[in-house]
Amino acid sequence: MKGTFPIDKFQEIQTPFYYYDTDLLRETLKTINTEVSKHEGFVVHYAIKANANPKVLNVICQAGLGADCVSGGEIQRCVETGFPSNKIVYAGVGKSDWEINLGLDKEIFCFNVESIPELEIINELAEKKGKVANVCFRINPNVGAHTNAKITTGLAENKFGIALEDMEKVIDEASKMKNIHFIGLHFHIGSQILDMGDFEALCNRVNDIQDQLEKHHIKIENINVGGGLGIDYQHPNRCPIPDFKAYFDTYAKLLKLRPGQKLHFELGRAVVGQMGSLITRTLYVKQGSFKQFAIVDAGMTDLIRPALYNAYHKIENISSEEATETYDVVGPICESSDVFSKAIDLNKCHRGDLIALRSAGAYGEIMASQYNCRVLPKGYIKEDF
Ligand SMILES: *Cc1c(COP(=O)(O)O)cnc(C)c1O
Repeated sequence: MKGTFPIDKFQEIQTPFYYYDTDLLRETLKTINTEVSKHEGFVVHYAIKANANPKVLNVICQAGLGADCVSGGEIQRCVETGFPSNKIVYAGVGKSDWEINLGLDKEIFCFNVESIPELEIINELAEKKGKVANVCFRINPNVGAHTNAKITTGLAENKFGIALEDMEKVIDEASKMKNIHFIGLHFHIGSQILDMGDFEALCNRVNDIQDQLEKHHIKIENINVGGGLGIDYQHPNRCPIPDFKAYFDTYAKLLKLRPGQKLHFELGRAVVGQMGSLITRTLYVKQGSFKQFAIVDAGMTDLIRPALYNAYHKIENISSEEATETYDVVGPICESSDVFSKAIDLNKCHRGDLIALRSAGAYGEIMASQYNCRVLPKGYIKEDF
């Protein structure tokens, strides 16, 4: 089964471009809000790094989600969109001074701090402004997510977070700083996680940590378990809305929240992944000695995930219903890795046919580059047509 697209309207538009099904986005957000409201103290932030298209952000902002940022630029974009500052959290191993100052000026909900040197700088910059910065410590829980090594973040070998054994020392340091207010702990173990067992392992680790801290009379107001819930790239139409019920229920069942404690989530891919497609046009069908190539006008500059992570995106010829043939689908960029998929079956391709690369709403448009002096792809939502 193929996706449904307003193909006639697409004919007038310069390819390649992103198409966002805002109906699916709204349904997804509704499901998130319904599931979250079943659990006391649960708060959801959208990880804006997955897709920062202003029209998409608008829809997410209107649904009432908070925002999870990893740069000053993202904080700026969130504030411009209308996300309330007190719903913005900010993580990142390398926050520069201007970014910290921006967070202080906007009075964001909290900085997720990843090292003592960073904590010292936040304290110093906050003091200069006569402000107190809320901080959570990002703890590296040493819990593995069984996905691609390039998107695993919660192992001791990764650059992210503060080592478990340093946690109490860091909390103690923070308590001595006048311009720092310690408000909780932050975790994020990786991305594209479909095995609830990985989240269960995180819950168990967080429970151990809480027990340990309580012994030392350290109180935690907020626990932030990051994001990472994956989507079904193989079957974008089968269950276009991820299983948020199973996800939130896992945390509700296993993570032992204390009275009054808030549990924060930072979901990116699961919110926007399935609602986006990269639409591209077939330029040439080229016969090689052993195979045939469908050469399209989108390249790794428009969607880098296949080249960067070996990621799979379902590809459909949305202009043709002819019998399928086997193609390598490749872009025009001067790199051998500019290949979207090898040996896949598509309805017979002709010059001019529109091709959809599905499940491209997350880490697609936002990762586009101008390599080869290319024009950045535009993003359109359903309402634009
Ligand atoms: C990337 C990121 C997220 C979102 O990850 P998804 O896999 O898209 O849900 C959440 N929190 C932090 C700190 C991140 O870096």
